[in-house]
Amino acid sequence: MPFHASLAQIIAVLDASTHHLFDQECIATGITTDSRNLQPGEVFLALRGETFDGHGFVESALAQGAVAAIVDTAFPTLDLPLIVVNDTLAAYQALGQWWRSQFDIPIIAITGSVGKTTTKEILAAVLARYGRVLKTQANYNNEIGVPKTLLELSDEHDFAVVEMGMRAKGEIALLSQIASPDVAVITNVGTAHIGRLGSRAAIAQAKCELLAEMPSDAIAVLNHDNPLLLETAARVWHGKTITYGLSGGDVQGQIRGGGIRVGDLTFQLPLAGEHNALNFLSALGVATALNLEWSAIASGLEVELPGGRSRRYELANDIVLLDETYNAGLESMLASLKLLAQTPGNRKVAVLGTMKELGSWAVAYHRQVGEQVKALGLDELLILADEAEAEALAQGALPLASECFVSHGDVIDRLSVMVKPGDRILFKASRSVGLDRVVEGVRSAI
Ligand code: ATP
Ligand code: MG
Repeated sequence: MPFHASLAQIIAVLDASTHHLFDQECIATGITTDSRNLQPGEVFLALRGETFDGHGFVESALAQGAVAAIVDTAFPTLDLPLIVVNDTLAAYQALGQWWRSQFDIPIIAITGSVGKTTTKEILAAVLARYGRVLKTQANYNNEIGVPKTLLELSDEHDFAVVEMGMRAKGEIALLSQIASPDVAVITNVGTAHIGRLGSRAAIAQAKCELLAEMPSDAIAVLNHDNPLLLETAARVWHGKTITYGLSGGDVQGQIRGGGIRVGDLTFQLPLAGEHNALNFLSALGVATALNLEWSAIASGLEVELPGGRSRRYELANDIVLLDETYNAGLESMLASLKLLAQTPGNRKVAVLGTMKELGSWAVAYHRQVGEQVKALGLDELLILADEAEAEALAQGALPLASECFVSHGDVIDRLSVMVKPGDRILFKASRSVGLDRVVEGVRSAI
């Protein structure tokens, strides 16, 4: 059954007070924070965000058939069936944690600087060979998304794969307590949000909160090729660990064309690129942790990622666009450039934009990306970035002459005239650059 609990149970879990709530034996069939998606019979939970306040929708949610609303103490006590708590977000998390505790299926948590969603999708495809899988929808990986995912657990599921993201210290610890995972994957420690966290060591510690807070009989699945991760994990985690990697680890893979060899078995890789080979190996690590036979996943695995990640568009005249516009940080830029270089074709064209949130590291990291463009021998570099970042990218790529642009339209116009048959074009930047608009423009112009 999907979520169901009597209002009395909900009140007890939250240690809440009530107002005008006469029938506490009434069964709630869900907890919803978005009144637009509310189904009759559910409880509406009012979240306060920076730009929205669910408390403004309490009355309409009840009119739509909500059996009660969970509100905070600042909400006026109208004649409405209310469950009143100090903090509605904490209440949402408590309900996610409680509902999760009703299930005895493996819950697999995934965090890391990059590759979480990709790994989540690969792992969900792998586990679907063995049973029914609940996974985080899209990228709902934060303090709201994790309880939302857990509240979707039902006895239909055999596994749950939960993505966990963070922007600051302490966030993953809380998510780990809520989800209480049986297996925890950390994909890597990189530089995403370094502007906020201060150092790679601090980022590593923040990721490893997942291990520090999980049950002691859980299993850690860690990227062997990331020494800082292993060192940091060893300080906080003394339980069972399975490592995976291309340069070593318990599950070590060797890339062979479009496949990967691990021990005696060769697996078809569902997504191109060394970084995705690593993401696939982590799924083998999880399968090992769960005592699942690998042979069921040797071939035919299909993985479709949410937009802007590892997406390939094949246009007329054998022109291929690699759409990585969803987001960018240093590691994912380097990984995607490598993928471009390794994609067979005519000219290799990189269309790059700003990597945001790098603080004082911004210039150095953009320069490093430029140097990678040069080192990989790419043919063209088109830049749509803020001034200092654009300059650093261009400098790093010298002697390759790059072209800088200030508008999306100019990049589209330039590509429309310069592209030749057989070209391979990578698009990558932070989300807010909106490089996906350039991809769209080029797709309709060419
Ligand atoms: P977010 O923090 O936004 O949720 P995420 O960790 O979920 O990001 P993905 O969406 O899986 O990351 O991948 C983002 C990009 O990172 C991909 O488009 C790809 O370019 C790159 N990437 C994926 N996996 C790896 C990896 N293991 N190492 C380096 N880069 C990777
Ligand atoms: Mg993600």
